[in-house]
Amino acid sequence: MPAARLRVLTRNAALGPLDYRAPAEGVPVGSVVRVPLGPRELHGVVWEADRLPTTEVADAKLRPILGVAPVPPIPASVRRLVEWVAAYYLVPPAAVLRMVLSVTAALDGARTVTEYRVSGILPERMTEKREAALSSLGDAQGLVRELAEWSGVSDAVIRGLISAGAIEPITVSVDRAPPLPDPDFGPPVLEAEQDAAASALVAAVKAHDFAPFLLDGVTGSGKTETYLEAVAAAIDAGGQALVLLPEIALTEPFLRRFEARFGCKPVQWHSDLRSSERRAAWRAAASGTAKVVVGARSALFLPYPDLRLIVVDEAHETSFKQEDGVPYHARDVAVMRAQIEAIPIVLATATPAIETLAQVTRGRYRHLELASRFGGAQMPGIEAIDLRVTPPESGRWLAPPLVEAIKETLARGEQSLLFLNRRGYAPLTLCRHCGTRIECPNCTAWMVEHRLVKRLQCHHCGLVEAVPDACPECGEEHSLVACGPGVERIAEEVSALFPDANVALVTSDTIHSPAQAKALVDSALAGEIDIFIGTQLITKGYHFPELTLVGVVDADLALKGGDLRAGERSFQQISQVAGRAGRGEKPGHVYIQTHQPEAPVLAALVAGDAPGFYAAETEARRAAAMPPFGRLAAIIVSGPDEAEVAATARAIGRAAPTGIDGLTILGPAPAPLSLLRGRFRHRLLVHAARRADVQGLIAEWLGGTEVPRNVRVAVDIDPYSF
Ligand code: ADP
Ligand code: ZN
Repeated sequence: MPAARLRVLTRNAALGPLDYRAPAEGVPVGSVVRVPLGPRELHGVVWEADRLPTTEVADAKLRPILGVAPVPPIPASVRRLVEWVAAYYLVPPAAVLRMVLSVTAALDGARTVTEYRVSGILPERMTEKREAALSSLGDAQGLVRELAEWSGVSDAVIRGLISAGAIEPITVSVDRAPPLPDPDFGPPVLEAEQDAAASALVAAVKAHDFAPFLLDGVTGSGKTETYLEAVAAAIDAGGQALVLLPEIALTEPFLRRFEARFGCKPVQWHSDLRSSERRAAWRAAASGTAKVVVGARSALFLPYPDLRLIVVDEAHETSFKQEDGVPYHARDVAVMRAQIEAIPIVLATATPAIETLAQVTRGRYRHLELASRFGGAQMPGIEAIDLRVTPPESGRWLAPPLVEAIKETLARGEQSLLFLNRRGYAPLTLCRHCGTRIECPNCTAWMVEHRLVKRLQCHHCGLVEAVPDACPECGEEHSLVACGPGVERIAEEVSALFPDANVALVTSDTIHSPAQAKALVDSALAGEIDIFIGTQLITKGYHFPELTLVGVVDADLALKGGDLRAGERSFQQISQVAGRAGRGEKPGHVYIQTHQPEAPVLAALVAGDAPGFYAAETEARRAAAMPPFGRLAAIIVSGPDEAEVAATARAIGRAAPTGIDGLTILGPAPAPLSLLRGRFRHRLLVHAARRADVQGLIAEWLGGTEVPRNVRVAVDIDPYSF
């Protein structure tokens, strides 16, 4: 009798599925197992042998598995999702499985873990580093590695503090049962529009069938309260619900609403979790005890055993598109997961993506509209400030009408928000003497001055340098000047104009955890902030009733993007930030600073003509056969040697398929970021008809090309940055 085989897909993205010998008692498909690989061992999942091919190994050569991990089997729906994502994005299935088994420590069955925290006892020998570590840790708690990372010292310093008793161990359970949300805790009284939308969603949850919805409600219409009724229905039915948010900073406002509605917090999943929290969250999601998970896009890959609803909030956000690793779009993968699970999915947004609206037009998604703001609040008036007519004073960035409006808002005791999507002090540092611009050595990008921390920083690779005293090129001293504004520079201008106003900077430099977002919301609601100055981080999700004035500092910035979605993105961004104004009882007003008020995007915003904008944008895409009326894919060739990269890209270009109707291949050419993290990048763009089998075509095309060892060829299906 032949030995019973197990086909195992491991977490190792470089490996395909492998066969092992099954133990006599057998192992069910979906089980998480430990298997040997050479001298190492790794985790994997037992797969259906007929779904993933492998190279045959003789029975006699099969190695036995090492054991079955004490966690529930990975459900069939998740195995199908892994296969779909791998096939759609042209990546190895193991690379996708890695996202499912993302917390290997959660798989080992340990019920507790040892973390460390500051004990309050001072070490006998105090060094500068020890002192810095202790003071920056505050009441933080985590693994040695985490404490070292958070306080910016080495592991050795932390270990030294542990031996000295200044940091003490604490045993933490990773099997904390998450609190159970109570669907009857605080049901809201919904307005008629909300109620109609909520009823449709609740009915879909009860029907337990695939049903995609666009919940299209103007800013402040109460989309959250509406979809939380569907979440309540999912809990009521004994299942799980997943809410995806595009940014960690939005977690805090969501948690408040959730707690008011259900009397407890949901399970969170994001990159700011401690490792013990991650383990606990993974296990709670996998065991089904987590009834509601709120998280970043990777929460989509958790192995929920009984998912009944997915909500993608701010569904238009481009940050749902992952650029590194597996380049997937969480919104699209969420729709696929909902289809596989046979459950409803809600895409909630005030500014839908053109792609999503097209699905409504095609009759694939149901359209639920909330046309007015909750509680009778009015939409804000939007006005353009033509910078050619009323320019700011020299060396300033805020034009007189906006300055005047801020002054009046302050006098009324209300809050203002200035939006500029640029972190730091200035986007460019230039030598007055020789004209040199300070560039990142690893990327095609300028170093951005962050004056608050006195550093130059590359926003692409993270390189940080001190601001030099002299020009690195010509050596001239004190010749470097900051060009253009970032939010820090706007804050400087505002503080000079209104020295008594309390100003809050809201960027990913100041807000990168839910705790920081909480502090911001607390002080905003307590009236401790007069003027918010922020990047796109502040444009959505927040509800501050006293905020009545919004100023868009540079509306031309996003228009300049030049790519397919530049118009759409600026429309969304400005509508969203405008939507922060006047959400309470007091009316809001929005000023948009621009040199081109006649640009269609801005004209539509001022006229309040969203339908007109969407119709024109959709028509332009249709005419050019661009997504969603055609398909795009990018082939990125990268490596440390520019000549080798260019040669490989040319070879791929020469091997391109020909004579296929509707297929155009552009390039190769240097990619927009032609040097990124020290790697040169060349790119080919594939433009095809909507129904073309782009994946099949590319797989066949690239299958035949030889790639030098140092060169990587990656495919980006439905690319966003190009
Ligand atoms: P949106 O997400 O559509 O911009 P929100 O969900 O932020 O709108 O709702 C705007 C405000 O109205 C929030 O403060 C929210 O709590 C409140 N709100 C919405 N619906 C209700 C309701 N049915 N009962 C009470 N408050 C509500
Ligand atoms: Zn860089």
